[in-house]
This record gives sequence, structure tokens and C-alpha cells, in this order.
Amino acid sequence: MRLSRYLLPILKENPREAEIISHRLMLRAGMIRQQGAGSFSWLPLGKRVLDRVCRIVREEQNRAGAQEILMPTIQSADLWIESGRYDDYGKEMLRITDRHERKMLYGPTNEEMVTDIFRAYVKSYKDLPLNLYHIQWKFRDEVRPRFGVMRSREFLMKDAYSFDLDFEGAKAAYNRMFVAYLRTFTRMGLKAIPMRADTGPIGGDLSHEFIILASTGESEVFCHKDFLDLPVPGENVDFGNDAEVAGIVSEWTAPYAATDEMHDETAWTEVPEDKRLTARGIEVGHIFHFGTKYSEPMKASVTGPDGQEHFVSMGSYGIGPSRLAAAIIEASHDDNGIIWPESVAPFDIALINMKVGDPECDRICGEIYGGLQNSGREVLYDDTDQRPGAKFATADLIGLPWQIIVGPRGIANGEVEVKNRATGERETVPIPSVADRFGAR
Ligand code: ATP
Ligand code: MG
Repeated sequence: MRLSRYLLPILKENPREAEIISHRLMLRAGMIRQQGAGSFSWLPLGKRVLDRVCRIVREEQNRAGAQEILMPTIQSADLWIESGRYDDYGKEMLRITDRHERKMLYGPTNEEMVTDIFRAYVKSYKDLPLNLYHIQWKFRDEVRPRFGVMRSREFLMKDAYSFDLDFEGAKAAYNRMFVAYLRTFTRMGLKAIPMRADTGPIGGDLSHEFIILASTGESEVFCHKDFLDLPVPGENVDFGNDAEVAGIVSEWTAPYAATDEMHDETAWTEVPEDKRLTARGIEVGHIFHFGTKYSEPMKASVTGPDGQEHFVSMGSYGIGPSRLAAAIIEASHDDNGIIWPESVAPFDIALINMKVGDPECDRICGEIYGGLQNSGREVLYDDTDQRPGAKFATADLIGLPWQIIVGPRGIANGEVEVKNRATGERETVPIPSVADRFGAR
């Protein structure tokens, strides 16, 4: 993509309304535009990041055996009346009436609708386990939308829902999502720690919030430092092997970890003092087993091996991709701007032409640009007439992992400069080897 043709509205000044670093940097880097309270448009650079985050989420959901669907954002109130949640949900739910005076709502979550899909088609235990997910916009009329896309009213959520014959099956389904989440956040360059969460009237211990540590987090968290070095399951984890998956979950739930809501002072004092980590955290995912809470009132049952009808045992599993885009920035930035991990970067490389209009600079840049694109690299080519200083500042601000700097002096020596955004390290590379230096994606 040529920067001269790209909508990248960079802000030089810090926007006053932004309280936290990710919100500031997302506005300054032209990723998002606020449209109203807690409502944002995703501009081209931001949209690329959001898509890359979603892609990782999707790959890991699929790997763990979940199947992608897409449900509407606007729902009929009828299903919610059936489950008994229509009145309970309160003011966070945006309630709408259509032209026929039918009660509708903008979905804050989808348990009811997915349960309705399930009961329409699945009748036998032989069709279980089943896990259906979608990545769809949600609306919650948050009391205090703030911190940009971190806590907005309209936000993107991946929500998965598992259906099993009994608790044992539901627990195995829960464990698969637990492990999928460890992999998902790690692939985005994040260290997410699973923390016991409140299960309310459901009871049991099958509810975890996945929290990343960041000074701007909304909750206070307490955890054992061992979490920082626990091995994250690789691609080869066998999601068909319940015992293997359960083993990973036990390892990742053994050390102490809790948010302030669940914090237990007695258990905390048993953690050796030098292993105690108190910090702020951002919730990026939440998994929850709730048994027959919806399947019973909504009569979603299957025939079991015993010939009897059983209400299915369910769980739900959320991740916020739009919040993640901000959370990744909270975890990875410096004074000059964002530092994208390669896996979610909007482009791989910023190609900086220091002297646009100079025939040699233009020619070499054109060649490098074409070569990198042919090898599957995503390149943002700065072919604008800005001065070099401004170009460097933009490249640092938007945080692409690599910068290739092309200027007349280098060209005279047959080389260009390559800078790593994260480390600041620079190397000179002979012009003919640039494409090879980056290899295929
Ligand atoms: P929170 O405690 O932060 O309000 P929640 O418990 O309401 O979160 P869930 O209902 O479990 O969240 O939603 C699943 C995921 O959706 C969360 O882990 C988070 O990543 C994301 N999410 C929830 N609310 C918002 C919001 N207002 N803005 C952006 N992302 C959100
Ligand atoms: Mg909430």
C-alpha cells in the first residue's frame, strides 16, 4: 500500500480526551475515530489489526474443535423472555421496538439465540460434543464507557458456546477452551493469566478470567510469579485427548491467581513473599460453565444413551478482539509509539523513501516494494513528500515491526538500512538481498 493513497490521519498532538496510552496511540496513529459515547469507527490501519487479531482467535477456536457461525446483532425479545433474562438484564441492554411494535434488542451476548439454534437441530447425544462460536458486534450500554475501545458500548466479541450431555463432557469442553485461550493470547505476544472468577449461583470452580498485566488495568490482581514462566501448549496439543488437555489446565490453575473480587487473603499468605505479584490487570477473555441455566427453561435436550431426555450442559467463552487491539498496545509500546508483535501488525514493513522525486530512490523503492509484495509481505510504502524526520516519526508511531530506509547515500553504496522497531537495531543490507532478508511470509 502506498502511503500517499492511504487514509492514515496521524495526529501530532496528544488528544486531550484520551486517558490511557493505548487510547492516545490509537487516535494518534489514525486507527480509530470516535463516533459517539463508546462508539468507534475502525479506520484502515485499525481494521487491519482487528482482522489479524480475529484471525488468530478463529484459528485457535477451530483448532480446538469449535465451529464458526454468524448470528444477527438484533434479536427478538421473545427468546430472552423465555430464558427469564429479559427483565433481569437491566439497563446495559439496548431495547428497541420495530414498526410492528415487536420488542427487539441489540444483543449484549447470545446464549439464548444459540440455544434456540441448538434445540432446532440437535436431538441425540451422538451429535455431542458441539461448540458453536461467532465473532460479532455486541452492544452494552456501559455506565462508564471509557479508555477508547477498551470499554466501549459497541464492541466486537468472539463468543463460543459448548453443549454436552453431562457435567463431565462440559468440563472437557471447558478445558479445551481454556487451552485454546492460552495459545490465542500467547500468539498475540501477550502473557494472559487465568484467574478464578465468580461463579455466582452456578457454583463450582469452572469460571476463569484471562487477565493481562498492565498498569492501566481496571482490576487489581494477585498472582504467583510462577505464572510468568509456565510453558504454553504448542500447536501439537491433542484436543481429542481429554486427559492431556485436563493436565495442561491443572498445571495452569495450580499457582494462586485472583482478581480483587475473588481474592482470598488466607490463601495469599501461603504464597512465599518473594513470589507474590500484585498488579493491575485487563480482562481479555472470560470462560464460564453454567450447566443447564438456559437449556432447562428453553427446553434444549438430547436423548442420552439411556434413552432418557437430558437438558444439555453448557458453557460460554468470550474474547474481546476490539479490547485486545488496545490491550496489545498497553503491553507493547515505547515513548515513540506502538510496537506491534509481528503476528498482529497491520503491515510487516514500512518502506521509507527519503527522497521522493529522486529517480534512483524512486526506482529502488519501487523494486523493493514489488519484490517484497511478491514474496507475500505486507508493505506500507511511504512515498509521500514529507521530510525524513516526519517519516521516521510516523513509522515509529504506527509501530510496524520493520523499517526499510532508502536514501541517496545508501544507494550510492548499493545498500539500504533495515531497522527493527522493537529493538531499534539497524543493519545495512545490499539492495539485491532485501527480498531474501525478509523471506516469504
Ligand atoms: P468486564 O468485566 O470488563 O465488563 P464482562 O465480564 O462484562 O467484562 P464478558 O461478558 O465475559 O465480559 O465478555 C467477554 C469479553 O468481551 C471480555 O473478556 C472482554 O474482552 C470483552 N468485553 C466485555 N465488555 C466489553 C466492553 N464494554 N468493551 C470492549 N470489550 C468488552
Ligand atoms: Mg461487563
